[in-house]
Amino acid sequence: MDRVFNFAPGPSMLPLPVLKKVQEELLCYADTGMSVMEMSHRSKMYLEIFDRAVAGLRDVMGVPEGYKIMFVQGGATAMFASVPMNLMDGGKADYIDSGNFAHNALVEAQKYGQVVVAGSSREDHYAYIPDYTLSPDARYVHITTNNTVYGTRWDHLPDTGSVPLVADMSSNILSEVYDVSRFGVIYAGAQKNVAPAGVVILIVREDLMGRELPITPKVMSFKKMADADSMLNTPNCFGIYVAGLVFDWIKAQGGVAELEKINIEKAKMLYDFLDESRLFKGTARRKDRSRMNVTFVTGNEQTDAQFVKEAAARGLVNLKGHRIVGGMRASIYNAMPVEGVRALVDFMKEFETKNG
Ligand SMILES: *Cc1c(COP(=O)(O)O)cnc(C)c1O
Repeated sequence: MDRVFNFAPGPSMLPLPVLKKVQEELLCYADTGMSVMEMSHRSKMYLEIFDRAVAGLRDVMGVPEGYKIMFVQGGATAMFASVPMNLMDGGKADYIDSGNFAHNALVEAQKYGQVVVAGSSREDHYAYIPDYTLSPDARYVHITTNNTVYGTRWDHLPDTGSVPLVADMSSNILSEVYDVSRFGVIYAGAQKNVAPAGVVILIVREDLMGRELPITPKVMSFKKMADADSMLNTPNCFGIYVAGLVFDWIKAQGGVAELEKINIEKAKMLYDFLDESRLFKGTARRKDRSRMNVTFVTGNEQTDAQFVKEAAARGLVNLKGHRIVGGMRASIYNAMPVEGVRALVDFMKEFETKNG
């Protein structure tokens, strides 16, 4: 069977050359006589794989000195608790409520300290990035750089002065260039742009470690995990190996800046069509449109369902919108080739002619 264009929001497509490399090395990695899945995380060979992955991320993302890179577990969802446990320190934190996951993050944080909702677009179905007012004495400011469910993206970073900026980058990490030095903490579930599910990328500025609440589970302490080099417990060895291969692939594409150009082009193809379409309509405010998750509707639920079904029959799969918003969503992460987006736009045109 041929591979499809998979528009799933996550887990999602991985680059084909990476999958082929994994296949090639699956039964016997280098001269070990075993799969990476079977290796001790303390073995010399695995530590090499691990160190390469860390170095690869540092390189492609431009992570400066003074920031620790970790690969942890529990998904971005665990980070919703880890962040306040490690940084709230008896004070308060500003949260910008820009989408479903942003909201989940702030609800979780309320268990560990005072959460100030510094801005929210919840009342307007999160169709845009809200305006916000920051507290000068917050312990940190939390944002979600790309809102996966509603298809919006921050087109700037808030100026937080000396207050650390914390970002959930789960759905757009490595899809565009970020100046890491603007952030105190960056975290991202890897299953959207980087690796199979089960790995979280965690980047923490070193001076922000060691302030965790006494109740913080050991495995969630930034400091303890950093001191143990992400090996406080058994890491997701295989997922980290795949992440390392993806970082190599990104380098081979010319780096994140090159991918960003392609991602802008891919998103533009879809949005340009949506803007002129008689049948389909984008749901996010123009200025805040995501380059990773393109959300749209026809205005008729039956037509939406028909579209999703017919698209799947053409090998354009997983276009159904998130269950809380309906409609359609095309997730076009780094690994989605331009041809996939072109095939989708062509099919949308054809569908419009028949049903518009
Ligand atoms: C997918 C996603 C999450 C949830 O990630 P898990 O790894 O499932 O916990 C959180 N935040 C954002 C922005 C996401 O896209």
